Amino acid sequence: MAHREKAHAMRALEEEILSLNITPELAAQANRLVIGDGSLDADIVFIGEAPGKNEDLQGLPFVGAAGKFLNVMLEAAGMVRSDVYITNIVKYRPPENRDPTTAEKAAFWPYVLRQLEIIQPAVVITLGRHSMEYFLPGEKIGEVHGQPKRLSLGDSMLIVMPLYHPAAAMYNGSLRQTLIDDFLKVPEVIRSFNETT
Ligand code: URA
Repeated sequence: MAHREKAHAMRALEEEILSLNITPELAAQANRLVIGDGSLDADIVFIGEAPGKNEDLQGLPFVGAAGKFLNVMLEAAGMVRSDVYITNIVKYRPPENRDPTTAEKAAFWPYVLRQLEIIQPAVVITLGRHSMEYFLPGEKIGEVHGQPKRLSLGDSMLIVMPLYHPAAAMYNGSLRQTLIDDFLKVPEVIRSFNETT
């Protein structure tokens, strides 16, 4: 898909979520839908949990404290935000930042898949267990973090690499270092995907 078509498809997807009133209770309490941000031509897509307060105010994913930490790690791994695409499994802020429910995640999952169909990335990085559980059901983050897995989704093959959530790891010394170490493996994962396809 050409870039213009991708932009058009992503806007249509956003309008569909709004017009079908997906997760009406979340929609009623949130300020806005946070569809995602970054390059629609990215090789790599990051998928977090759900918008928080800052994301809900600005309409962009990962712009609060966890987002700043994510930016630092991207930079350390030689990437910038505008090269990647960042979104969440749930696209409205849950009240009081509670965990998204199974029903809320299930309601948005088809839209996450459609976002991936539009972008066609080589690698998906899940941030935390809420997005990991849809790509790698039954896996435990403590056992599989940092390990790339090949997956076929629809018509395409991609690599899914589960990482800890930056908000969970940010203030926890050992988890923080684990996440940074895992993050630094991302460029090599992309390189090896490009070499084998
Ligand atoms: N945490 C998330 O999972 N997503 C955001 O967009 C911000 C914080």
